[in-house]
Amino acid sequence: MDKREQVLDQEHEIEQEKIEEEEELEFEEELEEVEVDQELVSCLSNAVRRVINLLSSGRKVREPYTIRVTEAISCLRKSYLNIVYGACPDNLYMSIGRYMHNIVLDMFRQELAQLGEVEIEPKITTEIFTDAKSIVYKLWQLVAEPDIVVRTRNGQVHVIELKFNFGKRTGTEAIRKYMMQVGTYVKMLNADLGHIVIIKNSLDVKYLTVTRQEAEQYYRQVIERARKLAKSIIEEKIPEPEPGIDCKTCPYTTTCRHVAQVHGSSHGD
Ligand code: SF4
Repeated sequence: MDKREQVLDQEHEIEQEKIEEEEELEFEEELEEVEVDQELVSCLSNAVRRVINLLSSGRKVREPYTIRVTEAISCLRKSYLNIVYGACPDNLYMSIGRYMHNIVLDMFRQELAQLGEVEIEPKITTEIFTDAKSIVYKLWQLVAEPDIVVRTRNGQVHVIELKFNFGKRTGTEAIRKYMMQVGTYVKMLNADLGHIVIIKNSLDVKYLTVTRQEAEQYYRQVIERARKLAKSIIEEKIPEPEPGIDCKTCPYTTTCRHVAQVHGSSHGD
């Protein structure tokens, strides 16, 4: 599918969502109002509140002057909007995903503990503008938070990243991004090997590795992208759109289009 087709596909999806929402509202208006026991409503709302609190408790607080590796490998316009406005709440799909992810990480931690020390989502930082003379640039850091780091008893360091591609295709674009992500972690941790475990909707498992040597080039690419993103934020200049797999889950499709009109660049083509 080329870029133009992707945009048309996306526009069609948005249009379809609008139609469904309108139909839903009309349907609800037609429904007969029913008296529901107040105690039951109260219990239901308490349960819903607990679920919402649970889902939102895993949200990560953003530190100023940081670019996460995952932001540097994503569409830079999407990451920019996320960082600058930051007001877009995670969608439910992402919240549930993160909650499940934490449960899964704990399972891996239990299994890997027999090899040595296991760290879950340790935070590592590195400067983005190493040669900068100005504090405005010098402040910026790249932040890595790999899923799992294992320090084995024989002194090896392994980085493990888990990916769950439910309802998504694991095409070359996704694989390339995962390699960049894990390669950057390997370099930042000076690890021996990076491991990517992809569990698909079909329960097929894909396993990839990133060597220390391969990590060098991925790290350079990610640092370059992180610099570009940080510069865009410093200069308050929105990056060009980078249409691709990120558009599928992007909460900024409307803003992206609007900004494209204002700045005269085109969304998705
Ligand atoms: S809609 Fe696509 S191109 Fe636009 S910001 Fe989102 S991910 Fe980037």
